[in-house]
Amino acid sequence: MGGMLSAAQADLPTMLLMILVTSGAMAFAVLFVARCRPRAGDGLSWWGGALLLNTLAFIVFGGVRVPDRLWLLVPGNLLLSGSMAAALHSLALYRSVIVGGALIWGPMLVIGGLTWCFLDSPVWRVPSVDLVVAAQSMAVAWVVIRPSPSVPAVPLERGRFLLVAGMVLLTGLYMFRIAAVLSGNTRVVDLVTPDLSQTISYMMGLIGILFSTLGFVLMHKERSEYLYRRLAFQDALTGVPNRRAVMDSLAQVVAHGGRAREPLSVMMIDIDFFKRINDAHGHRVGDLVLTEIAQRLRRRLRAQDILGRYGGEEFLAAFPDTDIEGVRGLAEELRGDFERNPVRVPNLSIPITLSVGVHSRIPSVGRNVVEEMVLAADRALYAAKDGGRNRVCVDGVIASAKGSGEAAVA
Ligand code: GH3
Ligand code: MG
Ligand code: MG
Repeated sequence: MGGMLSAAQADLPTMLLMILVTSGAMAFAVLFVARCRPRAGDGLSWWGGALLLNTLAFIVFGGVRVPDRLWLLVPGNLLLSGSMAAALHSLALYRSVIVGGALIWGPMLVIGGLTWCFLDSPVWRVPSVDLVVAAQSMAVAWVVIRPSPSVPAVPLERGRFLLVAGMVLLTGLYMFRIAAVLSGNTRVVDLVTPDLSQTISYMMGLIGILFSTLGFVLMHKERSEYLYRRLAFQDALTGVPNRRAVMDSLAQVVAHGGRAREPLSVMMIDIDFFKRINDAHGHRVGDLVLTEIAQRLRRRLRAQDILGRYGGEEFLAAFPDTDIEGVRGLAEELRGDFERNPVRVPNLSIPITLSVGVHSRIPSVGRNVVEEMVLAADRALYAAKDGGRNRVCVDGVIASAKGSGEAAVA
């Protein structure tokens, strides 16, 4: 145990060199990537800058000698605090959170002053300086955690947890140093004698830097994945899933319905004479009406129901575990609701009606079932149009009894 402990007491120059090289290499890597990115303003360059300042801080700390070159702690601490400030600025940019310049850069002044005043008194210097740096790292964590209204809320960002963990670790490191110094163990800040507490604090610092940098880079990855996924699967105008997404979801519920032998219903909804709305009010109003209709449909459906924009002014909806009677009633309800309540857009109230085709069956586990069901609903929709619009038409196949296969009903 004693041997292990003494082995764990790495000597200071080695640890300084390790931190310095790691931090410097990461600064280079992050700045290298940040520089060739077309879209700036996401804070990556500032994070690289933070790592660079951190590297410089440890270069300066490496030159500290007691007592003649103790003053180097002033620029060293300034650089360390500046590194935290740059990290905070970086995260504020990334998350579009407004943090005042005084809050970001002010701590540097405080830390410079404290280091200068208490240069010869580690018992005062370490707790006061470390407390400010700890507050700076908590501020970074706070900017990462707090909800930001102007930035898309990326669900479940693992990178964010990692960054916060890194910052908590750094805070822990400073608290650990404060506790050690206040309890009389100044070896933790002794720059000559190796000590286990010193090794622990340097390791925490290294892991903190690694975690937070990895976390921040992963946050970028997770955000862009989320944004591209949204581009690929969400209809840009109405915000509901686009055709690709709704067909994907439909394939999933068809497969589930086939396995569970549950009825599945689909509904094709088309707005009647929508061209006239464009002609009368312009495409801008047409777009607003379309968006409002999509949102209203979405609000009317249950969470497990699927709704997407199938084409121009056509929506496809699917209802798991819903039979023909259920979906017919729902379609009739929707149709009546829109007939009675005109769509409201700013300064206008526009009456619209819907034609709806529905189809229901217990899906077989075969191929082309999705296409068949959509086609059947589409045929029903055309029948509704031919029948005079503003109506619901049913054309379905439904299991006559459980397990007896599929039989045509209508
Ligand atoms: P019907 O009752 O037969 O469905 O008549 P309709 O006018 O609704 O159908 P038609 O297929 O003749 O025209 C659909 C119109 O929907 C044409 C197009 O101008 C409009 N449309 C499709 N997509 C959009 C869109 O994204 N924005 C706007 N403003 N209009 C759209
Ligand atoms: Mg139409
Ligand atoms: Mg149409």
